[in-house]
Amino acid sequence: MKADHFEQQKLLDLAAEDVALTQLAHRGRTLPEVAAVEAAEEAERTFSADVVRAETEARDLAREVKRLDSDVETVRQRETKDQRLLDSGSVSPKEMTNLQHELDSLKRRQADLEDQELELMERQEVADAALSAAQQGLATAREDRERAEQQRDDALADIADQTKRHQAARNEVAAGLSAPLLTLYDRIRTQTGTTGAALLKARSCQGCRIEFYGSQLAAVRNADPHDVLRCENCGRILVRSAESGL
Ligand SMILES: [Zn+2]
Repeated sequence: MKADHFEQQKLLDLAAEDVALTQLAHRGRTLPEVAAVEAAEEAERTFSADVVRAETEARDLAREVKRLDSDVETVRQRETKDQRLLDSGSVSPKEMTNLQHELDSLKRRQADLEDQELELMERQEVADAALSAAQQGLATAREDRERAEQQRDDALADIADQTKRHQAARNEVAAGLSAPLLTLYDRIRTQTGTTGAALLKARSCQGCRIEFYGSQLAAVRNADPHDVLRCENCGRILVRSAESGL
């Protein structure tokens, strides 16, 4: 294939834009800000589970306290009733003895229930503190996640903006190239994954860094300036310039 020597120079501008676009795409795929969001989301999920667990614990304890309160109340009512009966003097001596026994037993039961209630209240304090710590942790984790998301969005917006600018620059360069040369370039670019042309600098292909010697170098030297040359190693179009060392 032949193409104007000066048109071939433009392939280097195209390659520069493709390098920039490839780097931007890579940056987009490997953004540390994306990983930071994932880590923040994980922390938020952990704290969220902690809150649910602490809330359940606090609710269970509150229910337990309520049940004990009700038990204490029942015992108290029974005591009042027995005491009234005793005080009324309308019961037989045998019944009086039975009532006295029952009252003693009720008092022991009440003391026992009150002990249990005290212990529960201590556990409630611990549970409330745990809940409050989990809620605080969740709030902080949420803020961290939102901040991380903002940083990620800023980074992505920056990449999108730069990509747009490089894409526009590439389109402009591509518009100045003949269809066959551009088609060849794009085919090679698809194969290499980066660029379709490289500068021959100091007898080395800048695409793959291989240096030309002997007959290969002679072939490059003797080629017409308008010949489209390819690197035998990487397949890229070799663009010759004053720096080529020929
Ligand atoms: Zn090469």
